[in-house]
Amino acid sequence: MTIASVLLDDITTSPSPYHAVARVSELLTQSDFVRVSLFNSLPAAEGRYFVAEGGTLVAWIQSDQAPTSFSLVGAHTDSPNLRVRAAAEVASAGWAQVGMEIYGGVLLNSWLDRDLGLAGRVSVQAGDGTVEQRLLLDDRPLLRIPQLAIHLDRSIREKGLKLDPQSHMTPLWATGADEPGAVNEFVAEAVGAKPSEILSWDLMPFDVQAPAIVGRDADLIASARIDNLVSAFCGAHALVTVADALDLSTGDVPVLALYDHEEIGSESATGAAGAFLSALLERISAATGADRADHLQALASSFVVSADGAHATHPNYVDKHEPNHHIEVNAGVVVKRNANQRYATDAASEGRFRSLCAASGVPIQTYIHRNDLPCGSTIGPITAGQLAASTVDVGVPQLAMHSIREMCGTADVDHLVTALRAVWSGGTST
Ligand code: ZN
Repeated sequence: MTIASVLLDDITTSPSPYHAVARVSELLTQSDFVRVSLFNSLPAAEGRYFVAEGGTLVAWIQSDQAPTSFSLVGAHTDSPNLRVRAAAEVASAGWAQVGMEIYGGVLLNSWLDRDLGLAGRVSVQAGDGTVEQRLLLDDRPLLRIPQLAIHLDRSIREKGLKLDPQSHMTPLWATGADEPGAVNEFVAEAVGAKPSEILSWDLMPFDVQAPAIVGRDADLIASARIDNLVSAFCGAHALVTVADALDLSTGDVPVLALYDHEEIGSESATGAAGAFLSALLERISAATGADRADHLQALASSFVVSADGAHATHPNYVDKHEPNHHIEVNAGVVVKRNANQRYATDAASEGRFRSLCAASGVPIQTYIHRNDLPCGSTIGPITAGQLAASTVDVGVPQLAMHSIREMCGTADVDHLVTALRAVWSGGTST
């Protein structure tokens, strides 16, 4: 099985950040990583460990000595989408609809006329008085947002499609109006609870169409959530396949950090802009007996690779791209540079990453945004700011970023896995 085909399964089973964390947890556990609780002291013994909280997961491999540096690969588990509102029942013109909030920078048009399932997590009041989190995944085509017929809006030809996020993005799921509480009842049944036991939810629709290998040469991937589950799962597969070959006696600690909430700015309890990772790294050091000065010294020697989707040059919109920095699909990992530090890459971090990739035979392309368009950003600059560690922003080139169905290349998946293995092994095991 190629990495690309494994990746399609990974993405299919991960329609929400919580499911992505569950899937990565499964992959790690199969490779002898042990889940540890954030609520207990961290282990001092040599081993492979991970913590998971909501849509965020951090895995690491430690020896029994104090860390001298961390080699960190970061990515995010969330994707722009719609989120089910609290009072979700909407009744209009004889239809039962489900009200939504918009999460992140969604290409709204791409959600029209798709068959949508429902996934996420639900807080349930357990019998013993505790609150339990249950995952919900219903991959039946439950919801749809039909586009308005062209006969009812002729202006679309001249003006293009204009969608109002408040009124035009409400999926329907049945004829006849729902009573208040109908969505709650549906959710309760889906997670095996009574309606009165449902306390809260983080639920989101997703495209039930499975990812596919497409194109004349069968070397392209069409899928939801390529941004950024491709990076997240490339990171996970790189870590589990390189783990046996690592030399832990150097004191370097390999870390995989998969965050939630990148698409809305990373400012949350589990996002990259919060204290989650820096606190965890400090606890990892402390567990081995290192003091704070030792830990800060290890951070200063650390290297962060932030992996997130990169823009391939779109053949129909070539003028939207910097003409001297075109990016091709299946032509290598993209290093993202921005003079204004929207990407954290600098000469030092790029130099280190390029050298690792050259030693591993991974081709590199360089992305630079046009000066006349505002540049996006990612967890790279945020993590660099939190840890004060040398950071490079990289990614797999893709088209249709933030569409419900994005596109990238199968060879670039291999390129990224090889590059990330090299980040942890120093290029010696590839
Ligand atoms: Zn992203």
